[in-house]
Amino acid sequence: MAAQRNKASAGQQESILRQLPAVDRVLENGQILDWATEQGFGRSFLRRAANRFLDDLRSGIRAGRIDAAELEKRLTDLHEGVAGAAESLLQLNLRAVINATGVVVHTNLGRSPWSAAAADRVATLSRRYLNLEFDIDAGKRGGRDAPVERLFQQILPDTGVAVVNNNAAAVLLVLNTLADGKEVVVSRGQLVEIGGSFRIPEVMAKSGSILREVGATNRTHRSDYEAAINKNTGLLLAVHPSNYRVVGFTEGVSLAELVELGRTHGVPVAEDMGSGYLLDLGPYGIPREPAVGERLASGVDLVTFSGDKLLGGPQVGFVAGKPDFVQRARTNPLFRALRLDKAIFLAIEATLAAYVAGQLDEIPTVAMLKAPRDVLRRRAEALAKRLRAEVPDGQVTIEVVEVSSRVGGGAAPETDLPSFAVSLESERGPDRLATALRQAEPPVIARILDDRLVMDVRTVQRDEEDDLVAAVASVLASASDLRCIGE
Ligand SMILES: *Cc1c(COP(=O)(O)O)cnc(C)c1O
Repeated sequence: MAAQRNKASAGQQESILRQLPAVDRVLENGQILDWATEQGFGRSFLRRAANRFLDDLRSGIRAGRIDAAELEKRLTDLHEGVAGAAESLLQLNLRAVINATGVVVHTNLGRSPWSAAAADRVATLSRRYLNLEFDIDAGKRGGRDAPVERLFQQILPDTGVAVVNNNAAAVLLVLNTLADGKEVVVSRGQLVEIGGSFRIPEVMAKSGSILREVGATNRTHRSDYEAAINKNTGLLLAVHPSNYRVVGFTEGVSLAELVELGRTHGVPVAEDMGSGYLLDLGPYGIPREPAVGERLASGVDLVTFSGDKLLGGPQVGFVAGKPDFVQRARTNPLFRALRLDKAIFLAIEATLAAYVAGQLDEIPTVAMLKAPRDVLRRRAEALAKRLRAEVPDGQVTIEVVEVSSRVGGGAAPETDLPSFAVSLESERGPDRLATALRQAEPPVIARILDDRLVMDVRTVQRDEEDDLVAAVASVLASASDLRCIGE
């Protein structure tokens, strides 16, 4: 049948093409006009949709997929055709995906999913006017981030806090505020590049400050800093080497030592923490990620950290520390250029409120990081059982395997979090399975490990499990189709 269609001569195709109506005729269709009015579509969008519909038919005819009979069928319901074209023109890019990679803070997948409280608050309040910069009691203008600071102070008293667009912005703001035109002393072991082109030396150049590198990649001594400090030193900066470790013959200067040096020479000290965490993660098997409170207790003037890494909130950057230093950052004109949208304020308030109340399980990132091993194993076993029930015998091997999840977001790069995954092995091979799963609805992003496709349950949210089972089942069902055709 298909072969016959392909044999349609050029002359035949031309005569089929002549059956296509003009776009103006399509737009005269009463049903289409009523539907467009009901949808509130503009005239030019409607024309684009009609053109898209006709273009698709035209290319179908040229490719031999649409013959005269098929064209007649498609033209019987113009409304359906144009509505389909309108829908595809309006298809938006962003949609939910299931993260089965086991990387908790996955930058490509939006880092931290928001808590339900954060999302609900945005859904209801973003449609209304808010007291974003309005002091209701005083009846006059108020500061946008003062309420965030007050919430934060319930977690870490006496800490000044300003919030900006992300941690890169927070670092830029701190450097520009404290060291515009001045030198910033940084250890060569900490000249970090974070994924996505954030490099300390380049951010520093943009901030107007001058990088003064000290020490060697593996060793920096107190005397190196001391020798570098001069009249034009604006800041001593420590950078948490988020995504790598310098191991072996190493030496660094502790933050406490830097603070002491800064005090002796009258130079401020700041640290870019990267993934700032508000609590000690050690008990959950994530050592060596310093907590914000611990760093501030060392006497550092300012720290900066992300809101959407280990903290589990929306994308923001925190500048936290001594209130007078924070105030200087806040009055920098750059601060205005880096400020947050109201939706982000709504979400960060809800996230911090969960910390204040100790409701850590409400924050998805935190709940995933501290998920107990036996819970993960039970979830993997239950998922495997459901999947086996969906798949015809023997076509795919479904097993529960032990895997290591990753914290992600550049945090604790060496730490493996023991976890469990459902593995799939089929004749199709893991690459084709992975591709098919990405094309499922919703897309499932998995990992390939030892020639198997593995889906780590740690990063699959509980209310996504039904979707995961349905997506995998549909992929495996078409896998068995393929095999039947091949046989
Ligand atoms: C992640 C990170 C940044 C960048 O933070 P964003 O919130 O992504 O802008 C900067 N410095 C360090 C050390 C980091 O780990």
